[in-house]
Amino acid sequence: MSTTTDPQESPLTVLGAGPAGLATGFYARKQGLDVRLFEAADAVGGNARTLQMGPFRYDTGAHRFHDKNDAVTADVKALLGADLRRIDAPSQICWRGRRIDFPLAPYNLVRELPLSLLVQIAWEQLSIPRVSENAEHFEEMALQSYGPTLANLFLLNYTEKLWGADADTLSPRVAGDRLEGLDLKTFLLEAFGGSKTKARHLDGSFYYPKHGYGQIAEATADAIGRERIRTGARVTGIAHDGARIQRVTINDTHSVDPETVVSTLPLPLVLRLLDPPPPNEVQAVAGSMRFRHLRLVVLGLDRSRLTPNASLYFPERSVPFTRLYEPKNRSPDMAPDGQTVVVLERPCHPDTTAWQQPDDALRAEAVSLLADHGLVARDEVVASTHHEVPFAYPILEVGAAEKAGRLKQYLDRFDNLHRLGRSADFAYTHTHDLYSDARTLTQSLAARTPPAA
Ligand SMILES: Cc1cc2nc3c(=O)[nH]c(=O)nc-3n(C[C@H](O)[C@H](O)[C@H](O)COP(=O)(O)OP(=O)(O)OC[C@H]3O[C@@H](n4cnc5c(N)ncnc54)[C@H](O)[C@@H]3O)c2cc1C
Repeated sequence: MSTTTDPQESPLTVLGAGPAGLATGFYARKQGLDVRLFEAADAVGGNARTLQMGPFRYDTGAHRFHDKNDAVTADVKALLGADLRRIDAPSQICWRGRRIDFPLAPYNLVRELPLSLLVQIAWEQLSIPRVSENAEHFEEMALQSYGPTLANLFLLNYTEKLWGADADTLSPRVAGDRLEGLDLKTFLLEAFGGSKTKARHLDGSFYYPKHGYGQIAEATADAIGRERIRTGARVTGIAHDGARIQRVTINDTHSVDPETVVSTLPLPLVLRLLDPPPPNEVQAVAGSMRFRHLRLVVLGLDRSRLTPNASLYFPERSVPFTRLYEPKNRSPDMAPDGQTVVVLERPCHPDTTAWQQPDDALRAEAVSLLADHGLVARDEVVASTHHEVPFAYPILEVGAAEKAGRLKQYLDRFDNLHRLGRSADFAYTHTHDLYSDARTLTQSLAARTPPAA
């Protein structure tokens, strides 16, 4: 197929317009760099978009903006103004008809669990040596951090369902920072000191935009300038001479000769797009990197609220969904007065029966789950839709970091290629991390590039 080639369009070519690509474009503009973004989808925002179903709005998976980097928080606040609000909405686990705070909080456990279980848990807390920092896999870390009873009840089942892998094959890093701060000292302090001494792992406070999480992406795209972002532009080839990226092909028909490239595409995809291709051994490593995908069931409900929670987690294996979130608990503007909307997440591997299950059957499972738990009456469901979130989570198996390192090392030979993003780095990063990384990267690019006219 013949392609048309533009002369070099701008100093900086960004592949993908999810949070990482948009953050790169945003900070590049702040540094005075000209930039072009190429996005395969017909909208910006990647896996952090807000979608509409009639009068209901929902995000592509439960999102919150973490206030962990002062400079990034200030920039996002400046982008959204008063539309960025601080929200306090705790998350909980739905377990045998009870609601347990999540992340696990000893004071709450004491109130919610039967005495026999508490005695068992307390004994394990006192008798198990705490060496979880050196754990080789998630199962070991969970058992050592919490003891077998708590780990088996709330962590191991859930983790295996979320990642679709045995807990002893997963890296301890899959926990993110959710298990931080639950050492023996904080456990005892909280259990005996009451809720006032709550530990820092209780993270029910966060920022959230008035019109949904995707408002961050939309505002960032506006700040970049929409004319610099091409949607419907899938990168189909990345040609190189062994030391530099020379050409990026879009939709097989059009190409640009970039000065500098920032790729936010999934790491293994970049390896597959390279022309000439990498050695077989590198391709084999790229082919073995796995991502978890998500299916969402969205239900509009004819009632004003379902839960007070940011998210409600389902640890039991018998439940196919991992969590439910209610956008209205993040912003009241996500559903009309008197109604609410809930989103259930079902993690899947592609090409499995779970991924291919008909939408109606998945919806029926979601409604049955809520009805069986006494959460909704079936006739309260007034609208429904489905959505797929591909590449939701890089699966951090034991050894995956080394494999990703091998691929990154191969890509490091290209002087003018940079990587940024969750799938691009194969790391469990969040929006604020991506904005922070983009800020640092564009500062160093600007130091090497003359400003745009
Ligand atoms: C269920 C869920 C909940 C989350 N919750 C939070 C949260 O509460 N807080 C938080 O900070 N983060 C959260 N995250 C993480 C956050 O969504 C991701 O970190 C973020 O979306 C990653 O951004 P990214 O740009 O790296 O990748 P993506 O969002 O995956 O964007 C990549 C972009 O590249 C495009 N693309 C792919 N292939 C091509 C191609 N060939 N050519 C051109 N474009 C292409 C895609 O269409 C996409 O737009 C959550 C993620 C999920 C899945």
